[in-house]
Amino acid sequence: MATSPSLLDYLLDTTKGETMKLSERGAIRSAISDGGIHLYPAGKLTDIITSSLSGDKLDGDFNPESTAAKLLSVAGPSDPDASEIFKKDIATVADRVSKMEPEYRIEPVFEKMAQSLPAMAKRYYGLNDLEFTTPKVIEYYFEGHSEIYKDADWFAFNVNHSEAKELGVPFGIYFKRSQVTPGMPEYVTMHEANHVMQEKAASAKGYHSYIPWFDEGFADALGRMMLYRATEDEEMLRRVKNFRTEIDVTDPRKVTYHYGEETAILTLLRGRLPFARALMSLRKNDPFSVDWDAYANFIKSGLDPHVAIIKAYAGKKPENFRKALDRDEKKFRTESDLDQMDLRVLSMFCATQAPATLQASEYKTCMWLLEEVEKRPSPYFIDPEIIPSTMRAKVPDWKEEMAVPAASIPAELWDKAPEISLKVLIPENAIPENLKASTAKLTTMYFIIKRTIGGTTYYEPFGGGLPYRIKTGEIRCSY
Ligand SMILES: [Zn+2]
Repeated sequence: MATSPSLLDYLLDTTKGETMKLSERGAIRSAISDGGIHLYPAGKLTDIITSSLSGDKLDGDFNPESTAAKLLSVAGPSDPDASEIFKKDIATVADRVSKMEPEYRIEPVFEKMAQSLPAMAKRYYGLNDLEFTTPKVIEYYFEGHSEIYKDADWFAFNVNHSEAKELGVPFGIYFKRSQVTPGMPEYVTMHEANHVMQEKAASAKGYHSYIPWFDEGFADALGRMMLYRATEDEEMLRRVKNFRTEIDVTDPRKVTYHYGEETAILTLLRGRLPFARALMSLRKNDPFSVDWDAYANFIKSGLDPHVAIIKAYAGKKPENFRKALDRDEKKFRTESDLDQMDLRVLSMFCATQAPATLQASEYKTCMWLLEEVEKRPSPYFIDPEIIPSTMRAKVPDWKEEMAVPAASIPAELWDKAPEISLKVLIPENAIPENLKASTAKLTTMYFIIKRTIGGTTYYEPFGGGLPYRIKTGEIRCSY
């Protein structure tokens, strides 16, 4: 396969020795995208930190020691329950940043991308010779052109040929030197490289037209597949996903990207790559024949993309339109299509659902219940029904209508009948006074079950699946 020497030369030659510097915010976001934060979305932690530190925008240089100390000095929410959860979260983030490097060497990243991009351009777009430019690391965007870029919390920006003219800056990909979050430049390079590929495959000639869902959606969807194909780095993919679900969701502009990405993913899953490529050449050659927003809405409402595009046709000769589109798709079918790896990466970003969030008082109660139900030896009770009938003789005073004190169940039974662990009953009078109201609330939500056995009231956390819901992250905290 033909490679693109201009890309390789450009990427390899001009980035020697470039490092990116982590800002405090970059470091914090990197720590957050490792996951395991109670607050949802975890990206809101940066807002809490900046408002607690009276407007410190966290855009100063990151230093592992002083940034960690700064984090631990943050007062956080005043509500005592919220404060308790916040302290756990901030301790996690502070611990992670204290172990992070303040500089991020970008050169190996760009090298890796440079090596993989020509093959990616061929595989996903059928493009043979593309002009890529070295990502440039700059202090902030287009100094002197526009102040709006100065404090922009972006990682990168692609300037295509028409934009280059408009802005008066060289064509290419720009990274902001002090806003890097490790793990993101890799992904962003692929996203931006997709814009370069799209400019060739999908952009109308001679003028700049921007359809956000199309341009950003396909750049994200295809960019993530390319990222994984180039790196096969599961860890990176996981962090990129966390970044999207925890940090990007707090940024309205990014949310619209994801909205578009969903349309692109659904198009790719239902129509596959040859159809998506047919759409791109349509956009390039006959962009006004289609109402692109209508197409996006039809896709979201569940239509097959072949049906959606015909319904979104805005011209006067639908039959000709359909035939031309079919011809294109058939032609692209003789080239490459998505494989299992692509489909896995795609579906990973499509199947992203926000968790349920509970108030701090309820969340704190969940954590308490989880801890109590997992205590061994258990200080609580067990549902008598769960003891297998053949083993009941080994439990002193087993009675059908009486909860069994967990301590009276021999250890061998816990091993032989692991289902016993699922039927831990916490008596109502063992719930601490300050957690009583929220325990009752969790019961009304059916996250835990309230039962009466032998005249006593118990709570059964596994009955509503609460421990699973906490450990899978489907329940998170809002504070
Ligand atoms: Zn973009």
